[in-house]
Amino acid sequence: MLDLGTSFVASVARDPKALAIVDGDIRLSYRAWYEKISALVAAFDGLGLKPGDHLVTLLQNNWQAATLHWACQFAGIIVTPVNWRAKNDEIDFYLDNAEARALAYQHVSATAVTTAKGAGKLPRIALDGAQGTDLDFAQLIAAKAADATPRVDAEAWSLMLYTSGTTSRPKGVPRRHRAERAAAVAHVAQNLYAPGERTLGVMPLYHTMGVRSLLAMSLIGGVFVCLPQFDVARALRLIAAEGASNLYLVPTLYHDLVHHADFARTDVSSVRKLGFAGAPMTDALLQKLDAAFRPDLFVNHYGSTEIYTFTIDQKAARKPGSAGRAGINQMIRVVRLGAKSAEESAAPGEEGEIAALLAGDESFEGYWRRPDADAAAIRGGWYFTGDTGYVDADGDFFVTGRVDDLIITGGENVSPVEIESCLSLHPAVAEVAVAGLPDQRWGKIVCAFVKRRAAVEAPELDAYCRSSGLANFKRPRRYEFVAEIPKSPVGKLLRRKLVAGEYRPEAPVSQQGRNA
Ligand code: AMP
Repeated sequence: MLDLGTSFVASVARDPKALAIVDGDIRLSYRAWYEKISALVAAFDGLGLKPGDHLVTLLQNNWQAATLHWACQFAGIIVTPVNWRAKNDEIDFYLDNAEARALAYQHVSATAVTTAKGAGKLPRIALDGAQGTDLDFAQLIAAKAADATPRVDAEAWSLMLYTSGTTSRPKGVPRRHRAERAAAVAHVAQNLYAPGERTLGVMPLYHTMGVRSLLAMSLIGGVFVCLPQFDVARALRLIAAEGASNLYLVPTLYHDLVHHADFARTDVSSVRKLGFAGAPMTDALLQKLDAAFRPDLFVNHYGSTEIYTFTIDQKAARKPGSAGRAGINQMIRVVRLGAKSAEESAAPGEEGEIAALLAGDESFEGYWRRPDADAAAIRGGWYFTGDTGYVDADGDFFVTGRVDDLIITGGENVSPVEIESCLSLHPAVAEVAVAGLPDQRWGKIVCAFVKRRAAVEAPELDAYCRSSGLANFKRPRRYEFVAEIPKSPVGKLLRRKLVAGEYRPEAPVSQQGRNA
């Protein structure tokens, strides 16, 4: 298989003049971008970086971050992007854990970087004159360099992402060129991307979705339109101005797009393909997006950092909640909850844990220096996702939540997603998250945390659940009205924060009036 550097050279050879990346006023063709990437590879040599070294980056989605990503692929450096909002002690953890040999940052991450203990010992590349170093990105790429030739093959390590670490410290997920390439090619195939495709590059480049968008576009001569961080009005302007042909976002960002005041007056007709991943999408949002975009293709992509694709459903709105069937490079099954081996398959319709075959082309091979985590997640060549789900009578997969989020109430297993989807359809519900709260009598009770968009009280929502055919034992027994549903930096629901009481309750009506 081709390594990623050679894959990029192939795209340059195919159509050197094709537009490759846009970031504000910067518009680079494949040829022009290759020159910048080559200059950066030469600069890495100047810094003494070698294949197999880790470069930690703390960057927003800008053209420099994408250029660093590609330059690392040519140089055989393991790009290790982390959240640019990381605090100094978190940066120290990443630098130490990844055994970083260099780091790159920008204004937004400069204070944390310059106060991190470990950073001072390393070469630090700064964007746009950010304080704390004399290695300026613009200067590093200003020098002309010969076209970079790829230095590693497809077996080499390409990238290390960190899993979001919702419960414990983040785990490094090293991935080889061949797994990264296979995932990108699968992404192209599964989303029916065509040459010249244009995507909005807003899912963070420190998350698997952002990396996939970048690689998929570069492999097929497409355009990566950078949006440094999610700003709904700006996203809408960019979609229209750059004629984005597809979107690949977490449900939260879609939610914010279609509910923004500018949405109705923005021409989004260029967008023909919608894809979402990272979290389930509620029925209400599926319907709203289908009506708003009338897309040719609407893909629910269920996957993870470790293994890119588990399953896909290319007609996501047709059967709400369905994550479809195994992806092109994947074998997947539902096993009994608590199963020791993947041979203990669940019966059709039975809720269990979703497991994926580790031998698939898009797969990681184990966590970075975490044998404990490997032992917990990998059994007999299968990766246990920690997700609950079932297969319906048609053979389609449904993801119902995390094993840790399962609510055992009065001896029954209840997963939050079905209840969330049901409540999402109520017109007064803007957003909803369901979690189990400790209860003396039931063990756990089902609690719905609701962000209201209009006046509604618990009895009405309860009546709505009853009339929607939700099984009696699944009905929330408690409702909490909240100002915001807590989310991770990539927009994933954080149920554990709700359980721990770490959320803002909705302000009392009297106060709302004063604030308005
Ligand atoms: P990450 O590694 O951050 O991409 O997170 C992977 C996890 O996100 C999965 O194990 C699921 O819990 C969740 N997830 C990803 N895609 C979907 C999807 N399409 N539907 C439901 N949950 C999803």
